[in-house]
Amino acid sequence: MKSFLAFVLCLICLGVANAQLKAPAESAMDRFLRYVKIDTQSQEDQTTVPSTRKQLNLANLLAKELTALGAENVRVSEFGIVYATVPGNLADNSKVPVVGFIAHMDTSPAVSGENVNAIIHKNYQGGDIVLPKDTSQVITAAKNPVLKELIGDDIITADGTTLLGSDDKSGIAEVMTMIDILRQNPQIKHGTLAIAFTPDEEVGGGIEKFDIKGFGAKVAYTVDGEELGEISDETWSARTATVTFQGKSTHPGSAKGIMVNAMYAMGDYLGRFPKDMLPETTEGRVGFVHPYAGVIDVETSSVKILLRDFDVSGLDAKEKMLRDMVAQTAKKFPEVKIGITVEENYKNMKEMLKEFPELTNNAMEAARRAGLKPFMKPIRGGTDGSLLTFQGLPTPNLFTGGSNFHGKLEFNSRRGLEKSTETLVHLVQIFAEKS
Ligand SMILES: [Zn+2]
Repeated sequence: MKSFLAFVLCLICLGVANAQLKAPAESAMDRFLRYVKIDTQSQEDQTTVPSTRKQLNLANLLAKELTALGAENVRVSEFGIVYATVPGNLADNSKVPVVGFIAHMDTSPAVSGENVNAIIHKNYQGGDIVLPKDTSQVITAAKNPVLKELIGDDIITADGTTLLGSDDKSGIAEVMTMIDILRQNPQIKHGTLAIAFTPDEEVGGGIEKFDIKGFGAKVAYTVDGEELGEISDETWSARTATVTFQGKSTHPGSAKGIMVNAMYAMGDYLGRFPKDMLPETTEGRVGFVHPYAGVIDVETSSVKILLRDFDVSGLDAKEKMLRDMVAQTAKKFPEVKIGITVEENYKNMKEMLKEFPELTNNAMEAARRAGLKPFMKPIRGGTDGSLLTFQGLPTPNLFTGGSNFHGKLEFNSRRGLEKSTETLVHLVQIFAEKS
C-alpha cells in the first residue's frame, strides 16, 4: 500500500498532464531482489572478457527481459556486453540526441556474491542495523549519516555473509524499470535511448570492449553512483609509478665488500613519503600518493605507487616529488641503481565534460523534479565513463541510492531505487523538452 501510494505521488510529480499513468509491470525493488540472487562476481587478472562465465547468466536474462519490454536490436556481444535500443516516441526522433544509459552487471571480487540473501528491514525507525547471519556486521547510524534520511523507508541489506550487489544491480534495476514505465506510459515523450549492461567494471577491462559506434548514443550516463542526488562529472587523473632498486646479491658468508642490499634503499625511499599525502590521511578534493605493492629482495626490490589528483598540475607535482625522492635516496645509496617509470592510467573526465554542461544540468533538473536535492561530487576513483568520455562519448555518473559498495554492509532502500528510477524518467523527458 505504502509503495502504491509512493508511486501515485511520483507519477504526479512526473508532470504528465494526463494523470492516468500506469505502474511498471514490475517495481524497481522486485527487479533488484531478483537480480541480486544471480552471482556475477568478476575476477582479477583474467585474460578473457567477461572474466567469469557466470556473468553471462545475468546478461542473457537481461537480453530476454529487454526484448519483452519492447526494446530493439537487443544483443549480447562476444564479450558479454548487453546492448539494446529503446525507440523514441516523438514525431521526429532525430531532433533529440540519443541518450545512453549504462550499468554494470558484475560485483566486486572483494567479497562473495554467491547465495545473496537480501533482507528487507521494513519501516526503518533509526539506529544501527545488525545483519542477522553475522552479528559482527553492523551498519551503524554513526558511520552512515545517510540512514537519517531513510526513516520510514524499507532498507535492503545482505544477511552479513555476502555483499548485496547494489553496486551495480541497483543501476540495472532502475534502468530496466525506467524502460518499463516508458512502455506503460506512451504519453511520456522521449527520444531514442541506447541501453548497455557491461561485465567486468570492477576489474577493469569490460569497458575496453565497448562498441561505442554500435551503441549509437550521442551522450550517456553511467548509473553507478551512491547517495540520492549525487551526480559526478569528475574522476581522478591517475598514474602509476614503479620504482626499482638494483643491488647486488652474493653468498652472505663471503659478502663483505661485495653485497649491495637493495632493501635498505627501498626502505629509505618509503620513509620519505609525506604523511599528509596518503589515502589514509586525505579526503574530498585532495589527491594522494600510495605505495600499494612491491617486491623486497637483496638483488632487486621494487615498489608500485598510485598517483591520484583531480588536476593534472597536481599530478605532475606528485610525479616530480617521487622523482626527487629517487634522487635523494640515490645520493644516500650510491651503489644501488634506482630507476623510476611512470605510466598514465586515466584522466579526469571533467576535462572533456566541461564542454557538455547540459549533461549535468539536465541530470540536476531531473533529480529536482523527482523531489531530490542534487549535488555534484567528484569521484575519488575512475569510472567506465572516464574511458568512454575520452573516446568521444561524454558520460557522467548518476546516483543509484546505494551505500557501502564492495562490502558486507552494502545497502539500498525502496525509496532509493524508486527515486533513482523516477529521476531517469524525468531525464529522458527533459532531453526531449529541450531539443
Ligand atoms: Zn559500480
